[in-house]
Amino acid sequence: MENFINGKWTKPQSGNYGNVSNPVTGKVFDKVPHSNLDDVNAVMDAAHEAFKKWKKVPVAERASLQHKGAQLMRDHADELGNLLANELGRPLDACIREITRSADLTDYYAEEGLRLKGEIPLHNIEGERVMVIREPIGVVVSITSFNYPIALLTMKLGAALIAGCTIVSKPSDETPLSTMRLAELFSQAGYPPGVFNVITGRGRDIGDAMVTHKYTSKIAFTGGTSTGQRIGALAAQLGKRFTLELGGQSPVIVCADANLDIAVPAIVKHTFANSGQFCYRVSRIYVHQDIYDEYVARMTEETKKLTIGNQFSGCDMGPIISQKIYKTSEEQTADAKAKGATITTGGERLKGAEFEKGWFFPPTIIADANHSMEIMREETFGPVAAIMKFKTNEEAIALANDSDYGLAAYVFTGELGTGLRIAEELEAGSVWVNNIQRSYHDVPFGGVKQSGVGREKGRYGIESYTELKTIYYSY
Ligand code: NAP
Repeated sequence: MENFINGKWTKPQSGNYGNVSNPVTGKVFDKVPHSNLDDVNAVMDAAHEAFKKWKKVPVAERASLQHKGAQLMRDHADELGNLLANELGRPLDACIREITRSADLTDYYAEEGLRLKGEIPLHNIEGERVMVIREPIGVVVSITSFNYPIALLTMKLGAALIAGCTIVSKPSDETPLSTMRLAELFSQAGYPPGVFNVITGRGRDIGDAMVTHKYTSKIAFTGGTSTGQRIGALAAQLGKRFTLELGGQSPVIVCADANLDIAVPAIVKHTFANSGQFCYRVSRIYVHQDIYDEYVARMTEETKKLTIGNQFSGCDMGPIISQKIYKTSEEQTADAKAKGATITTGGERLKGAEFEKGWFFPPTIIADANHSMEIMREETFGPVAAIMKFKTNEEAIALANDSDYGLAAYVFTGELGTGLRIAEELEAGSVWVNNIQRSYHDVPFGGVKQSGVGREKGRYGIESYTELKTIYYSY
């Protein structure tokens, strides 16, 4: 595939390409541009030119186009899902669900955009009015991680487009194809050229140029904490707006009176989905001493039921995308073992013909963990979770908050008041009490501490693509 610039497939001026391969088989099945600075300039020019007209399009027309885009996503969910499964290695069903959920979010943003409002304070001064309006921020650069290429993009795309911004998306070098095809579908929906562009290439080669480009007004980034902090620092120096959705290391507290029939399956699902390559997955599990042994046994038993294989086999988990991401799981497991933890299931790379070409790590549970272990302090981004015993809820809250991260947290208890009190104490952007749902579209999502800056989704997500302007009006 080529870059999608100004409504057209465009060869890179660099003339260079990189391979896209299937993480299960290792087979290369497509190539995409390794763009250079000339390509960055070309795409930013296109988005800047398109912005001049797009910002003037009535919101109702933008909403109608956006619904068409969402419908095309649904119509092509199988095709996009297959593309995603091939480049990411995740089970096909989950990939198709990512597309349809992202279409729902796109629809939601279209409707919520119709409700954007300004303000006129009633000062009651004769011959004067003050208006507070919202204007689209300008050209948005979206830089996203490999793990949910379409979901992470649409968290930005629908909000930016409905607000009147144009967008340049740089997907991960590892999973670019689904994003490129999405841009083509939006063009078919009727979006004017230059409104939604995609450029591929390595972040380390073109990232700085995209972030600092004179036409970039906002950077919407999802990825690792160190990459995001660097982008935030660069953007801040130039007065550019940014939202950062970064790493997570999310804790769950299981109180003595928790209903384990609900807690165990919910935690297992939220620990191992997408092979643990999931920013708000459960990483650390604090369990009250009275139910610790029972919890460890039940979670181990539930985890052993998960099946692993290729993306088209109907299994629960696929491989990890690359050796770079894989090695953290192996290293953190070895570190915990060396420091006295017990591995109750998993723990070693899977062997055998089916697993030979991919980075397959089994779902792994580390019991008897403590905070001297890397698994309790650093992000894993793989299918490994650790369990630690606690005596009092106060101790559990302190342990859960003893982290650089603050994306999500979870609590299970039989007493609703206790759940609410713990939820209020936990340092996290979102807290789930007594079950774990996927994050909803109409409420904000984002992190505190080193998990990010700003929020996506909901009206907050759209507002972050607008700039407030105050107009003083005398008549
Ligand atoms: P990453 O290495 O930080 O890459 C993320 C994106 O940034 C990729 O598109 C990458 O491009 C690009 N990039 C790399 N270096 C760059 C630079 N110097 N300037 C500009 N862009 C650059 O992260 P990852 O390994 O793909 O993803 C894993 C991380 O993402 C985890 O920490 C995870 O928690 C986080 N994440 C957070 C959320 C959330 O909502 N909070 C959601 C999903 C993932 P290349 O691929 O070309 O290198």
